[in-house]
Amino acid sequence: MLGELLKGFSDFGVVRRAIYFNNTVPKVIPDFDKKLGDFSTRGQKRKQPCQDTTSPQFRDALKCLSSNLITLFPDSKKRETELWKELHESSVEGNVHALGEVLLSDKTVCRLCAKPLHVNSSRISEVVVYDETKGTFLASKIPKVCTNKKCHFTQHYGYYTVANSKFFDEDWARNEFLLSTSKTAFSMDFLRKLEIEILLGKLSFKEKADIYNEIHGYAHNSSETKPTASNEGSR
Ligand SMILES: [Zn+2]
Repeated sequence: MLGELLKGFSDFGVVRRAIYFNNTVPKVIPDFDKKLGDFSTRGQKRKQPCQDTTSPQFRDALKCLSSNLITLFPDSKKRETELWKELHESSVEGNVHALGEVLLSDKTVCRLCAKPLHVNSSRISEVVVYDETKGTFLASKIPKVCTNKKCHFTQHYGYYTVANSKFFDEDWARNEFLLSTSKTAFSMDFLRKLEIEILLGKLSFKEKADIYNEIHGYAHNSSETKPTASNEGSR
């Protein structure tokens, strides 16, 4: 059935964009077909497509195809955030490391002795990440250790340790996430937004945490084990 539907379409990227457009843009907007066609075939001009992607027939076929695919295959209706939630939940259910993020420093040499760093995959640990869009999920943190056996240097994502002392990298703010503890990380975008909301909106951190939990559906799930953004635990 799918093969039959896709007949005449040589680029799945175009079809994927058409599905996205169909799912996202209300059908009542003026020139829906033209806008769908233009958006779906963006970038195609450089590739010299064998089909005339600007013809009304092509646009009509694309609109029908994406609409049919959405009706016949409900999974194609799901947005990225929904699929992400399912991916995260299935990886947690399977008790495996989360498939989403790997927090690994991009530094390659020891800052103390300049010897190369080695990825220590036997010391992978789980980190709870708080993200504005994705919600709360698990990631894997992998340290890099100095290859010089006499050197007690470990490079983590955004910080390093020497013996038992911890120091932040001077360029930690360039990372996508901030590891505030060895088990907790915040996305930098989330922190920037949080700072503005707390300063301008005069919200307390507790109020912001409640908003975060409400948005991501954690506020009323006190019986579940899902982590929340509040240090005070579930309500
Ligand atoms: Zn070293």
